[in-house]
Amino acid sequence: MNALLDEFGLIRQFFTRPTRQAVLGVGDDCALLATRPHHHLAISTDMLVAGRHFFPDVSPITLGHKALAVNLSDLAAMGAEPRAFTLALSLPEADSTWLAPLAEGMLALADQHQCELVGGDTTRGPLNLCITVFGDVPIHQALRRDAAQIGDDIWVSGTLGDARLVLGHFLQEWHLSHEQLAQTRPRLERPEPRVMLGMALRGVAHAAIDLSDGLLGDLNHILERSQVGAQLEIDALPCSPTLAQHPLSLRHRCQMAGGDDYELCFTAPEHQRQTLAALAKRLSLPLTRIGRITPEPGLQVRTQQGHVLDCQQWQSFNHFSQAR
Ligand code: ADP
Ligand code: MG
Repeated sequence: MNALLDEFGLIRQFFTRPTRQAVLGVGDDCALLATRPHHHLAISTDMLVAGRHFFPDVSPITLGHKALAVNLSDLAAMGAEPRAFTLALSLPEADSTWLAPLAEGMLALADQHQCELVGGDTTRGPLNLCITVFGDVPIHQALRRDAAQIGDDIWVSGTLGDARLVLGHFLQEWHLSHEQLAQTRPRLERPEPRVMLGMALRGVAHAAIDLSDGLLGDLNHILERSQVGAQLEIDALPCSPTLAQHPLSLRHRCQMAGGDDYELCFTAPEHQRQTLAALAKRLSLPLTRIGRITPEPGLQVRTQQGHVLDCQQWQSFNHFSQAR
């Protein structure tokens, strides 16, 4: 840390604000949150490592937003309401021209969801951000991965695959025009956690998960935990106009195995279809039915014509898989 900005100066300047809901925020040995009656506390942690989860030269305002967004997305997937978060930061140097926009991007999203920064830790080291979020969910209403039921419809929010489309452009796997990049770049860099949707799905959906690693792998988590299978209609997967301009095989790859979409995938009984259509309208967020939960284990992916596709072609992201 430089002389002007030591560890505590840095915390004071960028990460300390008056508390709003928390009983005690930054500055003591622990933060204190008031628990709510008849609610469970939902807790989730996500770590973002430079060179692994983001390019080291990414703009700090974008990084600040995304680091919190991916955590809020986990609360959304549980149907929980955000309350507070902590931030553990490892920094190569205390550069205020970098820290100010990082805090700005993060705290703007925090304010949008009334999720307070109540503590953390700051150390010198390789660039790395770790956020822990805390949320509330009424007892028995959490959207758990193990709650899918045979016969449920499978739904996704928004569109799938744009984040992977942009990543492929940056990795020079393919090329996007200036206009295509402008249209899709925010999907990779500024994901919008579906917090309102998650809360609205309480009592409507059975199981839910947020799509961080790709539909194929993430839906499989629901199937395994719920001990069921699924039939997926690949032609039903929602697609942005930009992704639709690309060949079908690329489009399918981005939609099935592309990570970083942060949409919600959830299952709901058939009698909730009208409720979900009304909800989509109310939130101005498309909700698309993409398949069904089946008693036969495994995932079967079919085309409109009824052809069954081989899922091996889309490997979902796994940090410790052999392929990487
Ligand atoms: P301790 O030594 O008791 O763990 P620290 O000296 O690490 O406390 O931190 C002092 C206070 O600043 C604590 O309340 C801690 O939660 C808070 N804090 C430290 N780093 C951050 C950060 N990056 N963002 C928000 N709060 C932080
Ligand atoms: Mg500490």
